[in-house]
Amino acid sequence: MYFYKNEFMNKADIQLSPDDRGYYFGDGIYEVFRVYQGQIYEQEAHLQRLQRTASEVRLTLPFTLHRIGQILTELVDKNKLLEGTVYMQITRGEAPRAHPFPAQAEPIMLAYCTEVPRPVATIHNGIKAITFADIRWLRCDLKTLNLLPNVMAKQAALDHGVQEVVLHREGTVTECSASNVMMIKDGALYTHPANHLILHGITRAVVLRLAHSLEIPVKEEAFTTEQLLAADEAFITGTTVEITPILEVDGHAIGAGTPGAFTRKLQEEFVRTFS
Ligand code: PMP
Repeated sequence: MYFYKNEFMNKADIQLSPDDRGYYFGDGIYEVFRVYQGQIYEQEAHLQRLQRTASEVRLTLPFTLHRIGQILTELVDKNKLLEGTVYMQITRGEAPRAHPFPAQAEPIMLAYCTEVPRPVATIHNGIKAITFADIRWLRCDLKTLNLLPNVMAKQAALDHGVQEVVLHREGTVTECSASNVMMIKDGALYTHPANHLILHGITRAVVLRLAHSLEIPVKEEAFTTEQLLAADEAFITGTTVEITPILEVDGHAIGAGTPGAFTRKLQEEFVRTFS
């Protein structure tokens, strides 16, 4: 069961217009939520981020934030989803192709859920990454549908036989194709400040809270690709990847080349936040 425009319906019954501005321009916004034991994780934080993105791109939400939350909860219930994700997007609506905001169009919401287990193998064993130029625009803090640079980056990783890219702007690490990146050096946790160059990840925020409670010093400071290669530990954070260790970047082992003790401790604490 999907949600489209104003109602729940089967996927096969959705009639998408080619005039949807999401299709022409990527003129829309989205969120991805994780569902654990039938409950949407950090729902309020995701909804707040949705609202902020909507307001920054001057898109009027089709429902109140409260109603959107209800719709998503209903979607999870109707699909009897216990473990998985909810994808939702809102486009600026349907109008003949022209750049200016259409006068008449109504924003269009689409939402569905997918049953997907936690990626326990990569959470446990880690992944490898390559560095890759971050060629995105200067509002990476907004969760919009324009994901072509992220798609290109992710594919470059797969073409290199690794799972992820660490994006950098002239040597300064920002984030990954669909996750934030953190490193541990001399007992402190480093991650890029939450400014316009990265998505303000919900998982990032949870992990920073956990680090504070574990009394791990947190430094929201940008670091370079060289500093990353010299880190003791590194990991990515995201709704679907949770905390996944990075073992290798550009063929160089990070630390011992195995998931580190700080990473393991944060993973342990993270699991406690939803179980
Ligand atoms: N950065 C980017 C570019 C992303 O697409 C995502 C996934 N939404 C993240 C970071 C991680 O954010 P979150 O923890 O909210 O999933």
